[in-house]
Amino acid sequence: MEQKELNSMVKKIVSNIMLNNPTTGANGVFTSMNEAVEEAYKAQQNYKNYALEQRRQIVEGIRSGLRPYIEECAKRGVDESKMGRYEDKINKNTLVLDKTPGVEDLSTSAFTGDNGLTLVELSPFGVIGSITPVTNPTETIICNSLGMLAGGNAVVFSPHPSAIETSVWLVKLINRLASEAGAPPNLVTTVDKATLESVDEMMSHPKINMLCITGGTPIVKKGLSSGKKTIGAGAGNPPVIVDETADIEQAAKDIFNGASFDNNMPCIAEKVVLVVEAVADYLLFCLEKENIFKVTDPEDLKKLEKTILNEKGAAHKDFVGKNALHILQQAGVSCGYDPRLIIVETSKEHLFAVEELMMPVLPIVRCKDFDEALENAVVLENNLRHSAMMHSKNVDRLTEAARRIQTTIFVKNAPSYSGIGFGGEGYTTFTIAGPTGEGLTSARSFVRTRRCVLKNGFYIR
Ligand code: NAD
Repeated sequence: MEQKELNSMVKKIVSNIMLNNPTTGANGVFTSMNEAVEEAYKAQQNYKNYALEQRRQIVEGIRSGLRPYIEECAKRGVDESKMGRYEDKINKNTLVLDKTPGVEDLSTSAFTGDNGLTLVELSPFGVIGSITPVTNPTETIICNSLGMLAGGNAVVFSPHPSAIETSVWLVKLINRLASEAGAPPNLVTTVDKATLESVDEMMSHPKINMLCITGGTPIVKKGLSSGKKTIGAGAGNPPVIVDETADIEQAAKDIFNGASFDNNMPCIAEKVVLVVEAVADYLLFCLEKENIFKVTDPEDLKKLEKTILNEKGAAHKDFVGKNALHILQQAGVSCGYDPRLIIVETSKEHLFAVEELMMPVLPIVRCKDFDEALENAVVLENNLRHSAMMHSKNVDRLTEAARRIQTTIFVKNAPSYSGIGFGGEGYTTFTIAGPTGEGLTSARSFVRTRRCVLKNGFYIR
């Protein structure tokens, strides 16, 4: 064996031992939120003086260093949270590594004229507190780490308790890769136990300069009332409209693929279908060619309602992100195969249509015509300004729907995930800030805009 190979093997073994070492305080993991913030602050004080090229090397070092761990990210995420599908999580984590922008996302702009030159530069915020969801535990930590570090910041993560071990493991790994690429220690930190108190401490800590909250409506609202600059990436209930001009066979495939992806956990995933009556039967016929289970017996529907809705009529968290067969079995609905998606015809008022279920149960609502479908889609999206899809060949209607519904993402004639760059153009993110308007976040969302003016100089026209 060559000396070089031997060195790299020894390095890998040593860092794996360090990664699996439960001691906190090493590799970015702390027992208290205060320590996690203070250490990230120290790291950022150092990091802010790094050259852009050094920043780029660190971000790209993390990106390439994480590639061999994609399967492990997916496996740990599914095993610990007990949600989602391993093979889909591999795709999600790969997407994040492939398409999250880095330092190149930060571009300076300039004004020049008779009075000289004014530059608009993008500077780090400082230390960002990032609260992450259980539905995309590793994807969000990777995506936000790349973007926030590219922006010159340090980041303190507060993960969901149901994905804490996976998150702690990942933060350690990112720290190790960052430091191998030249970063100061603890540029990315977290706590070994995420509690409501530690979240409060993060939100009020004087050394946290910005909050980035990826989660449901209550936690986004909480962040917004903290008094700090907050990026809020909240809940959605993405409707999908299908009109009579659509390629119905393709629409059925796209809806099936989008709605069943990672058991419907992506916040952008199709949550309710509004189909024009004239093509409703054909859409259902085409959907039945996919690996779905269609609920037809009203008794089965009742069983399903009782199982997947809680006493408040919202999604029962025990079934969020679970496989369709598990849901059917728990509901006592017999099904002799392993479907990816359960579909059920409902009214537009049904709780399956109104609530963000985040499980592979897709309500289909028949509508008289396109106008009614659009009206229902707007109501069901509930002004969350998140995502919507439409299958149609009528450009005027596509335009009208996009204008009316005002979502951050509007996907035409494709599965929902095209909207985050999976099979669609554009970069990716797992932090889509509808409520606060940053949209699909990237490095440039995590920086301050600063102006630098030179009077009477460098104007050369
Ligand atoms: P969640 O709101 O239950 O949790 C999100 C994070 O907030 C977790 O870290 C959790 O521990 C923390 N949290 C929640 N309530 C808290 C409280 N009262 N005090 C302190 N911390 C609290 O959401 P989830 O189940 O993890 O994720 C699913 C939700 O997130 C869905 O509504 C989904 O639409 C949304 N989401 C949005 C985006 C987006 O980009 N817009 C991305 C992913 C998920």
